[in-house]
Amino acid sequence: MTQGRAEKFTEMSLEALRDSGHRITKQRKVVIECLAAADEPLSAPEVYERLSREVEGAQVDRVSVYRALDTLLQLKLVHKVSPNGAYLGCTHQNCVHSHHIMSRCTGCDDVRELDVPNEVVAPLLFHMKNTLKFTPDPHVLHMDGLCDSCSAG
Ligand SMILES: [Zn+2]
Ligand SMILES: [Zn+2]
Ligand SMILES: [Zn+2]
Repeated sequence: MTQGRAEKFTEMSLEALRDSGHRITKQRKVVIECLAAADEPLSAPEVYERLSREVEGAQVDRVSVYRALDTLLQLKLVHKVSPNGAYLGCTHQNCVHSHHIMSRCTGCDDVRELDVPNEVVAPLLFHMKNTLKFTPDPHVLHMDGLCDSCSAG
């Protein structure tokens, strides 16, 4: 994340933990900071690996890191990115747009979260609900494709 987004993500995540009655433990805090500092989605083992390398005194343990990620996911502060379920911090927590598409480049694995106006996705959501009896999570839709530099080659 860019520095501004990382700060906002960290701040809002800590606030959401507090608001939902979760304690700000050291484990949770370092996991949030790790995702904020990351430029790409990280798997749970990758988060653990980074933290065990970076955090002084090796005070992180695998189970707590995994649990912290789970808590962040439940609070919708992070997304699980297909196909591997890597974690990406959500920088759209207070976004006025309720619809987002997570685009993943299959060439370089670059993942972005984009705002999508309601009138653009509403027909798609309606169609899915109608045909599949399936209600998609309106916050995030996933889409694979090619980014600009990968499609140029
Ligand atoms: Zn999001
Ligand atoms: Zn947004
Ligand atoms: Zn690409």
